[in-house]
Amino acid sequence: MTNIDVLVSEVGPRDGLQSIETIMSTENKKRWIRAEAAAGVREIEVGSFVPVKLLPQMADTGEIVKYAKTIPGLTVTALVPNFIGAKNAIEAGVDKMCLPLSVSETHSRSNLRKSHSEVLKEVGNIVQYIKSLEETKRPGFEGNLSTAFGCTMEGKVSEKTVLSLGVRLMELGCDEVGLSDTTGYANPAQIKRLIRLVKNEVGEKHLTSIHLHNTRGLGLANALAALEEGISTLDSSLGGIGGCPFAPGASGNIVTEDLVFMLDAMGLRTGINLEALIEVNRMVKGSLPKEELYGFTVDSGLPKGYQNGGWGITG
Ligand code: ZN
Repeated sequence: MTNIDVLVSEVGPRDGLQSIETIMSTENKKRWIRAEAAAGVREIEVGSFVPVKLLPQMADTGEIVKYAKTIPGLTVTALVPNFIGAKNAIEAGVDKMCLPLSVSETHSRSNLRKSHSEVLKEVGNIVQYIKSLEETKRPGFEGNLSTAFGCTMEGKVSEKTVLSLGVRLMELGCDEVGLSDTTGYANPAQIKRLIRLVKNEVGEKHLTSIHLHNTRGLGLANALAALEEGISTLDSSLGGIGGCPFAPGASGNIVTEDLVFMLDAMGLRTGINLEALIEVNRMVKGSLPKEELYGFTVDSGLPKGYQNGGWGITG
């Protein structure tokens, strides 16, 4: 991150597409990834290495990773739920993999069908496997603390559990931990407190990213709170894809276009050209005619006289 201040990590092709009914064709996924990288997005989570019968939307992830790896300058990441997924991700050539460990054990059992200790065992096996590879072939490995701010099944989750699981992930050999507001329960004060607590346990440089949903409209407020605590990587989804059809705009990730607008207008460098990003939104919308896309910036257009980079900061 030499010439940018904030890394916007696009997760739409994974978190967005896995939450909607339409199965996007492999060709359209490739067009989306190529266009978004051309707009300046430097990291994209392109899919998930899960069993096809669970998520048919993700069946072509191996091919998508191989394709995305041909795009210069793009960091290609993928979600892996277990050891087998990680092996497949490494074989496809990912730069980085992320394994979700749900702080709510009830959610963990329903999502990965595993208890905490079972997930941690997979993490340990993955680390050992990575270590057995030649150094140049080792991908980055993040243990992601999902449902860290609350769970739709358990309600409140204990901060103590978040901390102890974060420490355990680092002890097992993850490169870093991430925090996820999987359910959209977080508020800015909680974001700040938990980031401080986790950094205190695992070290400043081992918590750099956060994954937010906009379920209750607090997504960008939470993103700003995280930035103020030194978080430098923010996950988001183009057009907020993945929002629940019964609550428009509700449960998807924070919207990439709105996030980039906020950062850009504040003078924080993302390396992303917003006008080009809005064109990508139109293209993706065309390939998902049955799905809703969300976002204020695309709907309202850019302010009069807007220029990429630091617009409005001189007031
Ligand atoms: Zn998510």
